[in-house]
Amino acid sequence: SPQNRNPFANMSALPGVRHVVAVASGKGGVGKSTVATNIAVALGMSGLRTGLLDADIYGPSIPLMMGVNEQPQVSSDNRIAPFVNHGIKMQSLGFFLGENAPVIWRGPMVMKAVQQLLKDTDWGELDALIIDLPPGTGDVQLTLVQTVPLTGAILVTTPQDLALLDVKKGAEMFKQVNAPLIGIVENMSFFVCPDCGKSTEVFRRGGGQKESERLGIPLLGRIPLDPVVCDTGDLGAPLVLSHPDTSAAEEFKAIAATV
Ligand code: ADP
Repeated sequence: SPQNRNPFANMSALPGVRHVVAVASGKGGVGKSTVATNIAVALGMSGLRTGLLDADIYGPSIPLMMGVNEQPQVSSDNRIAPFVNHGIKMQSLGFFLGENAPVIWRGPMVMKAVQQLLKDTDWGELDALIIDLPPGTGDVQLTLVQTVPLTGAILVTTPQDLALLDVKKGAEMFKQVNAPLIGIVENMSFFVCPDCGKSTEVFRRGGGQKESERLGIPLLGRIPLDPVVCDTGDLGAPLVLSHPDTSAAEEFKAIAATV
């Protein structure tokens, strides 16, 4: 199996971490980082010791969404302190790339950087570590999921067909490393008019449901398209914490409960 070829398969990379859950998507812009952030914060709110690793080298957005804009501190013995905000510990590959660094990293370099970041960060004891993967299913992603000992994976998609095609590739990728798929999150599923309350399925309808049936994995939730989701992301105040009573926040909390 591919796991036997993986040199890190037996590596106890994260001794104090009980569960590692990857959040993946076929392409960018579907809300993968938004989902990862809100799941992590929701887990923290429910009393679990939670970490969030931003491994999205193509567009690290977790620091912004988590309201962190400092640089990480590296101690003299090369340990890296995670950022703690909104009750969870956070780390981002983006800090170590720099704003102008070209994203031409090959698999082995990413693997080394992720490994180092995982091992050298003082995560302490965690019940769950959520990893925001880069979008896509190429070599970099495959290398990442082979490097980190995963408990399971969540796939994020929008209802459109193109995104759905990529979900299939994502499912295949996790199969290769024997990481169970926890389920699919359909994002931007519908828009509820704030004036009349009418719900409109802006993109295609029922795509997440169809795909979950096809893959035989649960549809964990359907997140509405809502400007408050975007605003809270930009403000670094995760929705589940800042607007816990919105229907999107309720969905995120329900999804977190399944992790
Ligand atoms: P990805 O990680 O897949 O690239 P992001 O989580 O960065 O996607 O989301 C892309 C943009 O869409 C962000 O500006 C985010 O705030 C916004 N967004 C994500 N989900 C929603 C939603 N349900 N409603 C409104 N805006 C959203």
